[in-house]
This record gives sequence, C-alpha cells and structure tokens, in this order.
Amino acid sequence: MSSTNIFSFMKSLCVGCGGCIALCPVNAISPSVNNGYFSVTIDGEKCIKCYLCVRNCPAINYLLNRTSRSSISHVHKTFLAWALNEKVRYRGASGGVVTALLKYLLEKKVVDGALVVRMRGVKPEAFIARSVDEVLMAQGSIYFSTYSLELIKQLKKMNGRYVIVALPCQINFINNLIENHILKEDSIAFLFALKCHSVFAYWYLDYILSLVGLKREEVKAVSSRGFGWPGGIFILSRRGIFKIPLIYEASAHEDGVLKRRLSLWNSLASTNLSGQFGCNICTNHEGLGADIVFGDAWIPSIIKIDSKGFSLINVYSEKGLNLINEAIADGFIRVQGVQIETSSQIFCTNLIHRVIETYIRHGLIKVFTKYGMKGVVCILPYVLFRDQYARNIALKIPYRILTTIIEKRHYLLGGIKSTS
Ligand SMILES: Cc1cc2nc3c(=O)[nH]c(=O)nc-3n(C[C@H](O)[C@H](O)[C@H](O)COP(=O)(O)OP(=O)(O)OC[C@H]3O[C@@H](n4cnc5c(N)ncnc54)[C@H](O)[C@@H]3O)c2cc1C
Ligand code: SF4
Ligand code: SF4
Ligand code: SF4
Repeated sequence: MSSTNIFSFMKSLCVGCGGCIALCPVNAISPSVNNGYFSVTIDGEKCIKCYLCVRNCPAINYLLNRTSRSSISHVHKTFLAWALNEKVRYRGASGGVVTALLKYLLEKKVVDGALVVRMRGVKPEAFIARSVDEVLMAQGSIYFSTYSLELIKQLKKMNGRYVIVALPCQINFINNLIENHILKEDSIAFLFALKCHSVFAYWYLDYILSLVGLKREEVKAVSSRGFGWPGGIFILSRRGIFKIPLIYEASAHEDGVLKRRLSLWNSLASTNLSGQFGCNICTNHEGLGADIVFGDAWIPSIIKIDSKGFSLINVYSEKGLNLINEAIADGFIRVQGVQIETSSQIFCTNLIHRVIETYIRHGLIKVFTKYGMKGVVCILPYVLFRDQYARNIALKIPYRILTTIIEKRHYLLGGIKSTS
C-alpha cells in the first residue's frame, strides 16, 4: 500500500485519541475535522515517512487485529462503587469514583499529577491536573474525541509519577509505547480506563443542537456529562441553558418551559451511527490493559433506585486492587461486591454483543478494502444466511432508520420555544 493510502486509511478510521500527534518526530500531525468526523491532518512537506504514527494508531491496530500484549489482562474483582463525598458523587458521570480515587492519589502524594480532560467552552481540553481542585473541575464524561494523548509529549519530558484517565483505545496506545520503551513504565503509576462503546462524531453535536433549535455559533459552552444519575449534558447558549438528558426525558429546559422528549442516546446513538467510523472496529471496549476500568452500573435493580450514581468497576491488576482497598480504608469510596451473575449479565451481554458485532464489521471492512462495495454486496446474502446475529442487525436497520426519521420530525416540527 502506498503511503498516501495508508495515511488516508488512518485518517478515516481515526477516533481522535491524539497519540500520533505526540509521537510524530517532526510535528507534522494536527487535529482536524474531515467531512464531519474528527480526524488528523498530515503535513506532507514535513513528514519523513517514519510511520511511527501508523504503527501505533489504535484504529489501524484494531483493523489488523494487532493489540499489545498487556491488553490481555484478567478481571480480579468486580464492584459496584461510589464516592463517599456527596458532591463528588453528584458531579460525577456515574458514581464519581474516578475522581474520588484521583483525589486520594493526589492528597496522599502517591502521584504527582493526573492526565484528565475538561470542557472549555465547546471544546474538550486535556491537561495534567496537579491539585484536587483541578481534578474536581474535570469531572464527568466527554463523549467527543479529545485528542488527550497529545499530552504524552509533555509527560515524556516530566519527572514524577502520573495517573492517566483514558478511553480503552488510548490505553492500548499507551501500552504499545511502554512495550516499545517509548514511554517509561515507572512514570505511569496507574492507568484508569473508561468503558467505551464509541465517541460521537463532530457532526453529532450539530445534530443534538438542532434538536433544541440551536446553531453551533449560538453556543457558548457545553458541559461534560454529570449532575446526578444518569444525568445529562448542559448547553449554555445565547438563548438560555438547555439540558440534554442521556435517556428520554420529557423536559429539555432547566425551568421546564421546553416540554419535549429528548435523549443524547437516541436511536442514532444506540446503533453507533452517531459514532466515529473507527469505533466500529474497536476490540477493546472494556478497557483491558488498564489497572481499573470504570463504567455505569446498568444493573436493572440499581437503575430502579439510583439517582445519585453508582459506578461498576472492574479491577484488572493487583496494584489496582490495593488502591481500591486503601481508598476504602481511608473513607474516599465505598464498594459492594457484585455477584458474578449480575456482573456477567451486563459484561457478557456487552462483550458478546460487541465481540460478535466487531467480528462481522471486521470481516466486512476487510472485504471492502480488498474488493470494494461490490464485494460487500456479494457476500452480504451469505453473511445474513449464515449468521443469526447479523440477520438481526440487518432487520433492525430499517426500523432504526424509521425511528430516527420520526424522532427528528417530532423534534423539528414541534415548534421550539425557549427563554433567555
Ligand atoms: C466517550 C465515553 C464513552 C463511554 N461509554 C460507556 C459505555 O458505553 N458504558 C459504560 O458503562 N460507561 C461508559 N463510559 C464511562 C462512564 O461514562 C463514566 O465515565 C465512568 O463510569 C466513570 O464515572 P465516574 O463518575 O466514576 O467518573 P468521574 O468522577 O466523573 O470522572 C471522569 C474522569 O474521566 C475523565 N474524562 C471524561 N471524558 C473523557 C474522555 N473522553 N477521555 C478521557 N478522559 C475523560 C474526566 O476528566 C474525569 O477525570 C464512557 C465514557 C466516555 C468518556
Ligand atoms: S486514532 Fe489516534 S493515532 Fe490514530 S490517527 Fe487518530 S489521533 Fe492519530
Ligand atoms: S510518518 Fe512519521 S513523520 Fe510522517 S506523520 Fe507519521 S509520525 Fe510524522
Ligand atoms: S469505541 Fe473503542 S476506538 Fe472508539 S473511542 Fe471507544 S475505546 Fe476508542
């Protein structure tokens, strides 16, 4: 494959991890938006064709089924967990546990800083938090590409020990660097992963804004997800503050003036149609390779009673387990052991769902790259005939398209009123 082709592949599969930007020895790579998707731009004049970027790009590695050895870790324990500090718990995306642990690590001087992300206006900003206040400012989940691994360049030059909060693809990237001695293992005290099924594409923000009748230019700031559970994101605009709930809620406006049904995870999102293209071939949604992975507690009995937030965490390493025990003993978090059937209920459904889906997507993308669209059309009847799961997905597509159209018409025809 020519270098132009490799680069264009990388750019279209990009999920915005930011790692290649940090690695490029001649600073030829910068973040960009391409056809409504987060991507990167490569300056051909500067590039010296070392291919460090391509070799380490997580999306390219998923395509080639190449994951780092440290991705193969084992679950030691699964817990339902929450921050004991009520503010931290309320402001967190789930149970505020990531932040409670970061607070513990900084207060006890176990680490010198934490790589986290916060929203600055409408843009995510990655930074190395060195104080508890800075960690608190960065609470919540940001569902768009953050390019946060760009900061590895800075981390490589710094002394001390750091904790990195990252998405699973970024954990793969970092483990690659450690295995290849590009990053010093002892500078990374802990790797915290956030369970992740996709990041939204750039165009999806415009779509969400259109649901409340806003244009990007009118928006001053977008919050990260937080504020109770399941919470939502807030949009500060010239025309007032709008809340986009995660799952369907009747009111979209803080003062209740807007009475409409809105959801960030609508039918587009629940089928991954709102995500970056590269997320469709991701094979590490569960954050393997990290010390601890954090997710929402989508356990039916918990959903019924929860408005404060619980996180479901998987501890993959011995040092991760020690940290959890210390944070419990010092009153930062509380945990409850999760029965294996309960955790496997969600983890297995997710895992099986994702693994099979990924397998099918991988296959289709490989056929596409070799034979083009004609190849995909030729093998589709065979795939549908052989595979019950693929058949189900295919049957769902018209239903999803229909619900999306209805949803959009419903929002846009409703005549949106807002107050300033
Ligand atoms: C893009 C994305 C997709 C997710 N998908 C799922 C899912 O499908 N299922 C599920 O169970 N959970 C998912 N999560 C995880 C979930 O939303 C919570 O982040 C997790 O449960 C931890 O909650 P908490 O209250 O303990 O964390 P908090 O105390 O709120 O702390 C969160 C920390 O994560 C950092 N952070 C936020 N966004 C990002 C980002 N994009 N990249 C790197 N760091 C970030 C913040 O700076 C903060 O330090 C996802 C998170 C993200 C960011
Ligand atoms: S996924 Fe990461 S490494 Fe790959 S092109 Fe995008 S920013 Fe670069
Ligand atoms: S091939 Fe090397 S020089 Fe060129 S963009 Fe990638 S990392 Fe930079
Ligand atoms: S789905 Fe996978 S590739 Fe996409 S952002 Fe999440 S971890 Fe990264």
